[in-house]
Amino acid sequence: MRVETIRIAGIEQAVSRIALGTWSMGGHLWGGADPEQASRTLRHALAVGINLIDTAPVYGFGLSEELIGKALRGVRHSAVIATKAGLQWDTGGIRRNATAQRIRKEVEDSLIRLGTDYIDLYQVHWPDPLVAQEETADELERLRREGKILAVGVSNYSSAQMDDFSQYTALATVQPPYNLFERAIDSDILPYAKQHSLVVLAYGPLCRGLLSGSMHSDTRFAGDDVRTLDPKFKAPRFEHYLAAVAALSSYARECHGKSVLALALRWVLDQGPTIALWGARRPEQLKGYEEAFGWHLTLEDLSHIDRILASTIKDPIGAEFLAPPKR
Ligand code: NAP
Repeated sequence: MRVETIRIAGIEQAVSRIALGTWSMGGHLWGGADPEQASRTLRHALAVGINLIDTAPVYGFGLSEELIGKALRGVRHSAVIATKAGLQWDTGGIRRNATAQRIRKEVEDSLIRLGTDYIDLYQVHWPDPLVAQEETADELERLRREGKILAVGVSNYSSAQMDDFSQYTALATVQPPYNLFERAIDSDILPYAKQHSLVVLAYGPLCRGLLSGSMHSDTRFAGDDVRTLDPKFKAPRFEHYLAAVAALSSYARECHGKSVLALALRWVLDQGPTIALWGARRPEQLKGYEEAFGWHLTLEDLSHIDRILASTIKDPIGAEFLAPPKR
């Protein structure tokens, strides 16, 4: 099965509509890292045609970018690297910082860790309310003119923030949370992206593994795992979401002969100019990626899915818990 692709303005290569998300590879907030498995996952993704790799300096505080840099030695041009700027970290934790000075430092550090002299897609990780959009966007425009980045994106921005930002530099992408259970962008960001020809890099397409179909009521998370903080994984909601996954799983199997994981990815891909950022840190997690390609959900499927969600999820909640504090 051929990998579906999409074009991002400013990037010559067509990019795969399933991207490899590398947050968990960094280990922090995911119970620790396994660099060897992570490197195998990166090589496997490229080998099967998943050429877009999404990362950020904050993922493992540099580790995720370093692993990507190592895996891409000698094959840099076969990959499209999307990284980010605008979060700082120290002993006080992670905070937003999208000043021009911070971005300039971050890009130089990322280029070294990634072992490259250009970044394909450079995204502002979170809007920083303490810095004028003009300052952040102007710095990105300078980096683009210098050839250090090819395209500019934002993440976790509202449409009003994107309107402001795009006065100063051309915006190619937006990266919000988006999956069957987290659909806040339907009313605003997604229509905005369609209207302004932005590609949507949907993060958490499996809702942090919930939509993989491999979780059960006795699944537990340990240590600093982000899912210990996620209200979806706490009683009584966890049972409701698992009931939704079970019903979606039966529907996917009976009506399409597919797994719930493939249904979840296809649902994201069928909503518009989207890319599903699939977080994986072991090669076997990408097994069945091809099941997401080459078919579509009908309007009838979409209504049936909505009925399943409405009847199982009593108290839906979004991904707001992920927002880092301001400085
Ligand atoms: P995700 O793709 O919904 O879920 C990833 C997790 O699901 C994996 O770490 C894994 O957990 C589990 N999983 C993946 N494949 C599986 C499989 N085949 N079977 C069973 N479980 C499987 O969510 P995400 O990692 O949070 O998001 C994806 C990417 O989006 C990130 O890596 C990052 O690049 C990006 N992101 C961006 C932002 C932002 O603010 N811009 C925020 C969050 C994420 P285990 O490894 O623990 O089994």
